[in-house]
Amino acid sequence: MKKISLLIPVYNEEESLDALYAALLPLLDNTHPGLNGMKYDWEVIFIDDGSNDRSADKLRDLNSKDQRLRFARLSRNFGKENALLAGFDRMTGNAMVIMDADLQHPVDTIPEMIAKWEDGYEDVYGFRLSRGKESILRNFFTKIYYGLLNRSTRVDVLPNVGDFRLLDKKVVDAIRGLRESQRYTKGLYCWVGFKKTGVDFRTADRVSGETHMSAGRLINLALEGITSYTTAPLRIATVLGFIISILAICYMIYIVCKTLIFGEPIQGFPTLICTILFLGGCQLLALGIIGEYIGKIYNESKGRPPYIVAEESDFPTNQNENSKGD
Ligand code: UDP
Ligand code: MG
Repeated sequence: MKKISLLIPVYNEEESLDALYAALLPLLDNTHPGLNGMKYDWEVIFIDDGSNDRSADKLRDLNSKDQRLRFARLSRNFGKENALLAGFDRMTGNAMVIMDADLQHPVDTIPEMIAKWEDGYEDVYGFRLSRGKESILRNFFTKIYYGLLNRSTRVDVLPNVGDFRLLDKKVVDAIRGLRESQRYTKGLYCWVGFKKTGVDFRTADRVSGETHMSAGRLINLALEGITSYTTAPLRIATVLGFIISILAICYMIYIVCKTLIFGEPIQGFPTLICTILFLGGCQLLALGIIGEYIGKIYNESKGRPPYIVAEESDFPTNQNENSKGD
């Protein structure tokens, strides 16, 4: 029987956990009508991301009640992105569904995702039709942000697509290989590629508590998204430096001509201003160039694999290499 892992990061969700377990039971028992009689082995992996309420105790209780529920507790709050990685490392299923603990991601969508997976898709993402109770300001900035992000990178990050998704084991293995500790998982799903499709869902309101994603956290995550996918900001410095240098040279020519023809009432001004402008431009340019290289070093230092294989036929591979070794 195929096995499906559910990965649920938990941060101060003690009040949601019972409701969550109750909502998941029909799936775990294979009695959910959406499954159409299909049967799967299930495992639920809770990653307690350093909660400071009683979430960990709750998880321990659940685990002793139902062996299908496992949990790992992180030593401190590492943030949702890193909690997800801990879950990726622990999954043993053929596919994994990632969902929030606050029941904002409807359980009823999971069978739809599984059906798409059975059709051969490797990454089935939930497409948010509505965002639940979220501030207008957050919605507004989300829209601008994705516009910016997608204009400045080659890897498209889909708007209205979050962490609610099903990943084939192959995709999980690939993402597991990306060990950067400042993670932007939403971008990583896109970066690794694989056959993707979406299913629609409506974000429900939180069952209890408040969102943990404060404005500050969201801004941090947004910056992570931009700086781990593009070195465009560095390039802006190069371009700006170049433009200022050119402008300074034009201005210099103008001042020199003007001084030669009309003379200059303020002694030393033309030389001074030309030097300042030109040097300023050169400095920016040099900084930009250094930045470009730092950007390259930065990208390489992540040590990401140059490519990832999704599927392979039986190549008569490595015969040359083998014979070389003989
Ligand atoms: N979460 C986490 N670590 C954190 C913040 C959040 O594991 O540092 C979990 C949280 O318990 C929830 C999910 O990530 O299951 C989404 O968090 P939240 O609902 O606060 O974010 P929102 O849905 O508002 O984006
Ligand atoms: Mg939420």
